[in-house]
Amino acid sequence: MRSRQIESGLVCAPMLEGASWEAVIGLEVHAQLLTRSKLFCACDVTFGAPPNTHVCPTCLGLPGALPTLNAEAVRMAVKAALALGGEVQEKSRFARKNYFYPDLPKGYQISQYDEPFCKGGAVTITLPPAHEGGEPCTKVARLTRIHMEEDAGKNLHDFGGGSVVDLNRAGTPLIEIVGEPDLRSAKEATEYLRALRDELVFLGINDGNLEEGSLRCDVNVSIRRAGDSTLGTRVELKNINSFRFVEKAIASEIERQKDVLETGGRVVAETRGWDEKTGTTYSLRSKETAQDYRYFPEPDLPLLVLEDAFVDRVHAEVGESPRDKRARFVQELGLTAQAASVLTQHPRIAAFFEEAATLFGDTIKVANFIQSEVLRDVTTQGLKAKFAISATQLAKILDLVRSGEISGKQAKELYAKVKWTDGDPRATMSELGMSQVIDPKAIEQVCAKVIADHPKQAADLKAGKKQLFGFFVGQIMKATKGSANPELVNAMLERLLGTTK
Ligand code: ADP
Ligand code: ZN
Ligand code: MG
Repeated sequence: MRSRQIESGLVCAPMLEGASWEAVIGLEVHAQLLTRSKLFCACDVTFGAPPNTHVCPTCLGLPGALPTLNAEAVRMAVKAALALGGEVQEKSRFARKNYFYPDLPKGYQISQYDEPFCKGGAVTITLPPAHEGGEPCTKVARLTRIHMEEDAGKNLHDFGGGSVVDLNRAGTPLIEIVGEPDLRSAKEATEYLRALRDELVFLGINDGNLEEGSLRCDVNVSIRRAGDSTLGTRVELKNINSFRFVEKAIASEIERQKDVLETGGRVVAETRGWDEKTGTTYSLRSKETAQDYRYFPEPDLPLLVLEDAFVDRVHAEVGESPRDKRARFVQELGLTAQAASVLTQHPRIAAFFEEAATLFGDTIKVANFIQSEVLRDVTTQGLKAKFAISATQLAKILDLVRSGEISGKQAKELYAKVKWTDGDPRATMSELGMSQVIDPKAIEQVCAKVIADHPKQAADLKAGKKQLFGFFVGQIMKATKGSANPELVNAMLERLLGTTK
């Protein structure tokens, strides 16, 4: 199969408190593909343009205008499918999903229905140990399918005193990733969403922005008696735009359903929203009578045929998954799981770390310095990231520490001086007269003077008052404005005072 290997793993199903109920959760995730133009026309997809400035007869749904499929969108969709281990279908079909809404001028959305371009796949998640000292648990949550579809427009209210329908977004390419109801807790669901977002962002096909809606998720929640094999009635939670809210909304919805069932009621199939103020979900609309979209094959588009050669080419573009990258950072580069996770929070941060690590060699020193200094200045926007220094400058700073020319503390000061400039760290170090005193003669002179200036403390230290060692180190650092090499200072003091630290 042309896909990344789906690793099988332990399936852990945490039961609800009291173990009498089990939550069942399945996510439908819509991801905007980062193409330049729309799915069926050449209009620009730039976010934030004045309303209705990126529209044409096709995305306005004018009579007689015909759709033309965007090849770049197909390439990105296939890339996602392969990375998620799905089976890309040689033949798939677009279909019309008919409904009426002001933001849908054609009266239908072009989507895929019973012949999606991808079936199956999975998202692997790792959950923290269930109890202290336990093993983290890996779970493989299966995907039902992935299909391509166009986005609808947007109704803007309170716009210039009225409401407008903005069709800039109409026709934006999306993939919908439909998950099986394999998730069993709010935590599992958020981890799933996080893993999925990471995957898409590292593929470079989505910017992972829940707040701006370029990644959207509908959460289906039901509960059942632990041990039951049939599914309970599900409620769909819509329009939740942050990881924190997703987790809170699911947890609250599980509790609500438990209360309903325990007081003899029944869960109604409906769509609910999340109210952050009250911390509860509220009913948006009933789903008891399923809406009939009267799907039918899109007559204006031919069957989509994805040839093996094309799929193979796209497959070659699928790089290392963020999950594999994290594992490699730990196993091969010696990082802690925590550091690996911090350094893979964004693809550009991971790339920066890898570049600097290759240049400098000592991966742990690079990882530490990036975490303590560089990340404080990094700004990310979508798939872009801005760094205050280059990987080359970083490696040069660390080189100066390795050669003993500056101390670790001075490296941080040097970073602060070099950042946002294209300055050479060594030149900046010299300009600032920063270089560390590594000449043993010079250090011996300072040590001898400090000892001579503090005869009482020296005597006490020699008599066994070891805590005074730190006092002498402090005095020497003060006398040298922090530039003395600490190892040399320690060694010299030990020698001159005839004592150990
Ligand atoms: P729709 O398009 O109406 O939302 P789907 O059949 O496509 O319906 O189901 C969508 C999602 O609902 C899937 O992610 C699936 O995992 C989830 N789901 C289905 N049944 C249940 C259930 N009983 N409890 C929780 N989630 C469910
Ligand atoms: Zn258009
Ligand atoms: Mg749904």
